[in-house]
Amino acid sequence: MKTEKQHFTIRASSSRLDKGLLAIPQRFKDWFPEEKGAIQIVFDDEDKPKSLTFHPYDHVVKESRIFGLGHWFSKRDVREGDLISLTLEDPGKRLYRIALDRYLREREEEETRQKFQAAQTDSEADDQLNALSRLTRKPLRNLAQEELLHIAQESAHRPRPRVVPSAAERLEGVPSAIRILLRELHDGRCQLCSFTFEKRNGEPYFEVHHLDPEVGHHPSNLLVVCPNCHAQFEHAAVSDFRWTGGWLVGVTINGKRHSVRQPLAHDSIKRGALGFLIVLAAAQVGRLLVR
Ligand SMILES: [Zn+2]
Repeated sequence: MKTEKQHFTIRASSSRLDKGLLAIPQRFKDWFPEEKGAIQIVFDDEDKPKSLTFHPYDHVVKESRIFGLGHWFSKRDVREGDLISLTLEDPGKRLYRIALDRYLREREEEETRQKFQAAQTDSEADDQLNALSRLTRKPLRNLAQEELLHIAQESAHRPRPRVVPSAAERLEGVPSAIRILLRELHDGRCQLCSFTFEKRNGEPYFEVHHLDPEVGHHPSNLLVVCPNCHAQFEHAAVSDFRWTGGWLVGVTINGKRHSVRQPLAHDSIKRGALGFLIVLAAAQVGRLLVR
């Protein structure tokens, strides 16, 4: 075993879940007392042990058992087939740790996701997104699409903060987490013309355009663009904005129609994101009221 402390895993079965007990395979019987009695259990990432009852192997039920797990089963929503790991923490004190692998993994994922979203630099965001990709075993592109869609559905449109202090009032740049998600989703390619170029550090060059400069970093307000298309958005005659489910899918620049590659528009619709549309509508109404 790799870890210092001995541990084994058991797959939860519905009959044991119903009875609130854990059956211990016979090959680990030496880890447990020979007599019926109390053992100490710490759960998951907790510190304080609880006293539970242990019954050694008997010929009627043909297994040794730990009783009194019903509360933990329901608290963690343990289901048939879940992997439960049991660690021998301190044999002298009859102290064991029982942990739901799924819970620990989800918790680690959530911590990584929070670090990712709070990243202060692009390289920090990059590191955390890669860590999340390893934890979830999802390819970066798929993960970026999921995370961006999640951000789009969870966050309402917000005014874009101004950065102070500065001689000219400057608008806040796109947070690193969102920049990195956009880069992964689009490979750094312009959503209008697909152009990008490789920078000296090997990464694709791209800029992020805010469709409404006063509105914040909601993903539907952002476009990955090349410098050429970005300049056209800023300076040319831009009209005929075409939207699907709140996402820009087409625009006319100086009389020429362009379609906008928008993978999230299809996801939003596919997932029947009525709630998302309501959020968008509410945000639009909110903005009108503010004006
Ligand atoms: Zn372009």
